[in-house]
Amino acid sequence: MKTNKQTSCADPYENDSISVNQAKKKIIEEVTPIVGVEKLTLRSCLNRFLAEDIYSPINVPSHINSAMDGYAIAGDDLPSDAPQDYKVVGTAYAGKPTTSTIKVGEVIRIMTGGVMPAGTDTVIMQEQVELIDDTTIRIEPQHKVGQNVRQAGEDIEKNCLVLSKGKQLSAADLGILASLGIGELRVYRRPRIAFFSTGDELRSIGETLAEGEIYDSNRYTLFSMLKNLDVEILDMGVIRDTREDIRTAFINASEMADFVITSGGVSVGEADYIKPTLKELGDTHFWKIAMKPGRPLTFGKINNARFFGLPGNPVAVMVTFLQFLQPAIYYLSSGKTKQTITLQAKCASKLYKRSGRTEFQRGIFEQTTDGTLSVKRTGKQGSGILTSMSIANCFILLNEDCDGVEEGQMVEIQPFAGAI
Ligand code: AMP
Ligand code: MG
Repeated sequence: MKTNKQTSCADPYENDSISVNQAKKKIIEEVTPIVGVEKLTLRSCLNRFLAEDIYSPINVPSHINSAMDGYAIAGDDLPSDAPQDYKVVGTAYAGKPTTSTIKVGEVIRIMTGGVMPAGTDTVIMQEQVELIDDTTIRIEPQHKVGQNVRQAGEDIEKNCLVLSKGKQLSAADLGILASLGIGELRVYRRPRIAFFSTGDELRSIGETLAEGEIYDSNRYTLFSMLKNLDVEILDMGVIRDTREDIRTAFINASEMADFVITSGGVSVGEADYIKPTLKELGDTHFWKIAMKPGRPLTFGKINNARFFGLPGNPVAVMVTFLQFLQPAIYYLSSGKTKQTITLQAKCASKLYKRSGRTEFQRGIFEQTTDGTLSVKRTGKQGSGILTSMSIANCFILLNEDCDGVEEGQMVEIQPFAGAI
């Protein structure tokens, strides 16, 4: 942990805070990947995580075939230095192999995907031949033996490992599995994620706001970010801040879910029932993370469920979800960690920042005419300014050591790219 030289009276908790990376590491250490498996048909497997290694039962393609519409010929019968005429003695369509065979001076008309007829190993594109009459074509010299032919197993060889256990299945993967004739797969069950909001000031949509009350927006951002991850979502609503309600909600959630997420009520010094209830029910750490926004975070365990108490402020909810929960859910689903891709961009304006904590400022990045990336801040950066997350397409990641950025300096950005 980095020591903080800047601790002030206004910030009495910095000395016992942990870094973003330490928090990420501790969370992954505590998560046990899902072992439950289900068998699903291919179409239902998109975005799911494979629970088995897949070996290819066949060659793809399964036979040597033509990559073009044209004429199949024997390579050693190609014209060497002058154009030559050939007799067309049959046709091979894709899926309808021909039984015709060739002799010297003969070719077979072939369509893309057609099995190469016996004795042929080369295809001349139809655009490159001259039609002399109904059954005769002329071929120019300078073609290469073996051209325009796809070999059996060229994409996937029989018996090779095609997809490994833990792989998240993409559109390309479903296509590959279909090309192998595999219609059912064993995948891990979806993670079950329960969440609820706490706070006596919160009202649900449809209710009237009394003075000092606000609508609960965190459940909607959480729902949406979870939806993007293809998990089983258990929305438990707004839980009143009474000891009994909180206790019941925690017990119910931990019995149903792998992860329980709450927002609000973890600020330092808050008088509510979250902390005492968690202490009573489970093994829980109240972390101060050297980051902005999102400093207070509770992480722990109730029964078999892992518990994440996110801060209440709407931007802090999104930041902590993306930094901690998204990788944790990925690990829960696959047993694998995923690299977070960051890019370098030129900062369009001066950024103020204090060293000693990681900041996730909201930015808009774009590609400039010279192909490089440029990023600007979205404006107000308060942790309650949810519109900043709507306008932004990336975080500007300012690490603990950074104490400000000058205009034109390069900064690290983390694109949202489908995550929010
Ligand atoms: P807390 O962490 O409970 O002290 O909340 C910090 C700030 O976030 C307060 O201004 C809360 O009103 C606000 N907040 C807490 N929960 C929500 C929620 N579910 N939706 C919107 N704002 C919230
Ligand atoms: Mg609260």
